[in-house]
Amino acid sequence: MAKHNERVCIIGGGPAGISAAMYLEKKGYRNYAVYEKLNKVGGKSWSPTLTVNGEERTFETGAIMGAKTYFAVHEVEEFGGETHDDGPNMRRMYRDKDGFVIHPFEIGEDFSVSKTLGLLKLKRQMKKLVKLMNTKYRGYDTYGHIGVAKGEFYGLSKEVDRPLHRIKGRNPNLKDLALPFSEFCRINGVEEVQRIWIGPYTSFGYGYFDEIPAAYVMKYLDTTTAIEFVNMRLWTWKRGTQSIYEAANKKLQHPAILNTEVVKVERPAEGEKGKIKVTIKNDQGEQVEEFDKLIVTTPLDWFKDFADAREDEKALFSKIIHEKYVDFTAVFEENGGPDISGYIFDNMTSDRLGHAMVYYHRWEDLGSNCPCPVYALRNHTGDPDVPYDETIRLMEEDMKLCGFPVKERLFEQETYYCPHVSPEDYADGWYDKLDAMQGRQNTYYAGEILSFGDMEDTCASSRDIVGRFF
Ligand SMILES: Cc1cc2nc3c(=O)[nH]c(=O)nc-3n(C[C@H](O)[C@H](O)[C@H](O)COP(=O)(O)OP(=O)(O)OC[C@H]3O[C@@H](n4cnc5c(N)ncnc54)[C@H](O)[C@@H]3O)c2cc1C
Repeated sequence: MAKHNERVCIIGGGPAGISAAMYLEKKGYRNYAVYEKLNKVGGKSWSPTLTVNGEERTFETGAIMGAKTYFAVHEVEEFGGETHDDGPNMRRMYRDKDGFVIHPFEIGEDFSVSKTLGLLKLKRQMKKLVKLMNTKYRGYDTYGHIGVAKGEFYGLSKEVDRPLHRIKGRNPNLKDLALPFSEFCRINGVEEVQRIWIGPYTSFGYGYFDEIPAAYVMKYLDTTTAIEFVNMRLWTWKRGTQSIYEAANKKLQHPAILNTEVVKVERPAEGEKGKIKVTIKNDQGEQVEEFDKLIVTTPLDWFKDFADAREDEKALFSKIIHEKYVDFTAVFEENGGPDISGYIFDNMTSDRLGHAMVYYHRWEDLGSNCPCPVYALRNHTGDPDVPYDETIRLMEEDMKLCGFPVKERLFEQETYYCPHVSPEDYADGWYDKLDAMQGRQNTYYAGEILSFGDMEDTCASSRDIVGRFF
């Protein structure tokens, strides 16, 4: 059969699924179907609308921002005709755990010698890390993790001047990226930089630096992206991040089939010819569809729940860990909410598990009447999870300490967030084992686990999979 006529099933209509369909189409594939169990595309890029002061506004309950390093997301934007040029500006301040305003990155009102020396040390170590990443860790800035555990790099590049071109090479130092980020910083004498990276990392729900392999930190917050974050040169979308995928979906020859869950996958045994049978369920009941190939963008640790997973798939996917990131959109008393986003710095360490780490003020003109999402993590390796209800109570208490008592909670959720593997499994070559499985039984794995749990890495992974295997 001509390759382009092959029928491809894409499970999930989030950023990974919609971008996979787009990249397939760009390659000439015309016979694919995207199944999405919800009544919308975008997955965790979810931007519901609220009426405030008589005007409709989008609020972000999931993904919020990007940066100039969002090359693959930009391709999706362009395909759909969406733009990040009209999004609201990002503005922020910092607070301690008691809600008081602090200035961790500037002198503020503290002219002490220790503060000045501390800031100078931070600046020096930032520079040192940037240099190390470009020299000792050359090749770190690819999407994905193929080869890293063996001291190699292979994948699409994140380089600003030549993004998304495939590079490969050898650099034994890259093995250090399997270490927890705190250990990686210690062996390189740059412990202070964690104070900068922690904001867009831990408070964004991606875990704590003593448990997360450095690869997930440095590949997502590569030095260019981190500097864009420090300087607040960030992308946002007026109609919300969901609009990127809605716009692209509308342009697809076969837009995602909504309200349709994949409930069963039966593949011909390895070495046998035949079609992949996919059972879908919607309000019409269940129906079996036949495909030649399968792209799975949904959590791989859940694959066995609906598919005929092999023993090696079950064993590998059971190693996946995900974060338990809780957020709710808070409504405050009239004129009683924040008027700028806040990072509650002290709450970003695991001894403050369950506490609010950040809140996002989206619309400057709404001042202190702007509903704001508030975020917390409730899990950390080696510690018991903070119960969900207790997390909500702590988050509300923290907002009150900051001077913003919550009147009502909207869009409350806990997401399956930032799937990753432990430093040990990373060092053991988990990603090379996953890559070796790509294409077996005509099954391809995409989505957040492939590179990192953000929009850019998921879309770039779809580009990579389609580019290499289709
Ligand atoms: C609170 C929060 C803040 C975030 N902030 C940012 C940010 O600022 N910037 C950024 O880049 N990223 C951010 N992210 C991360 C980003 O949203 C995700 O990394 C991205 O959405 C992952 O895309 P995905 O397609 O891999 O998975 P998902 O977005 O999870 O999409 C998977 C889709 O599959 C569907 N599905 C699941 N099972 C089935 C089934 N059996 N059949 C059919 N459909 C199914 C789901 O309904 C879902 O729509 C944030 C996420 C959250 C939750």
